[in-house]
Amino acid sequence: MMRKSLALLFSATIGYASLGATTAAAETFVTIGTGGQTGVYYVVGQSVCRLLNRNSAEHGIRCNAPSSGGSVANVNAIRGGEMNMGVVQSDIQYKSYEGIQSFESEGPFSDMRALFALHGEPLTIVARNDANITGVKDLKGKRVNIGNPGSGQRDTMDVVMQALGWTVDDFALASALDAAEQAAALGDNNIDAMVYVVGHPNGSIQEATTTVDANLVSVSGPEIDQLISERPYYAKAIIPGGLYRGNDADTETFGVRATLVASTATDDETVYQTVKAVFENFDRFKRLHPAFATLKEEEMIKDGLSAPLHEGAIRYYKERGWM
Ligand code: GLU
Repeated sequence: MMRKSLALLFSATIGYASLGATTAAAETFVTIGTGGQTGVYYVVGQSVCRLLNRNSAEHGIRCNAPSSGGSVANVNAIRGGEMNMGVVQSDIQYKSYEGIQSFESEGPFSDMRALFALHGEPLTIVARNDANITGVKDLKGKRVNIGNPGSGQRDTMDVVMQALGWTVDDFALASALDAAEQAAALGDNNIDAMVYVVGHPNGSIQEATTTVDANLVSVSGPEIDQLISERPYYAKAIIPGGLYRGNDADTETFGVRATLVASTATDDETVYQTVKAVFENFDRFKRLHPAFATLKEEEMIKDGLSAPLHEGAIRYYKERGWM
């Protein structure tokens, strides 16, 4: 008698568990907005998804991370409900959350929520050696790829141009090629310089400096100093020498941080499982790209975040005793 009821109970549990797993597995599809395929955001998205998808059978979440136009495109897609999460520069996060400057017409994106910050992203300008560009002001009159609309670098470059009192007419050519196309354009001599706000080392700058003799350009001077002092999300940054062919000296510039954001419309459980997948496998995550190697948990949950943390992230950080 006892045996029978135990057996019944057992099969009922199995039945329930497998039913739960099948329905759950088909249930939640999550898309993370990234950037061009030769940048670091793409690797962030792929890495987060890879770790999250390892436990799909348990939590029923399937993650994918297609390439995209970059920060601004990601924030707009999250706001429009077409993406659930996205990698976004900290300056873009700030401006979009507050609804200021380039985001003034949309108004504040008050439903934006932060998950964590990632690697630093210096404003990186690479010029062909034969263009004789060593400082940002030498870009005047040159052919410059200022970035596709939707990219973070385009937004940051617009700010730099304003600070210098320039418009696109100050360049011989201001092109808007995608991040993944610009290294080839530099090599083909279609542009003199390319602009990328990006973690290091990365495939794009490596491609640029190996296909042609090219140098990193310093971004400094009184106008830049003023920009950094006026805006909380900018900080001085150094691109270390020795990362790229022909660039052995450090390059002075300023930068932001990459961050992962979602909206209140992204459910708590999905966000909880996402941050859990990253922080439970943190050593593994850090090995997935050299730009992640120096990440530290305690900095990631506060630096560069202007939107409030997502409830699902808070739940996990409290469980870990970080909050
Ligand atoms: N910071 C760039 C952007 O916001 C993307 C950099 C990358 O893809 O790593 O568009």
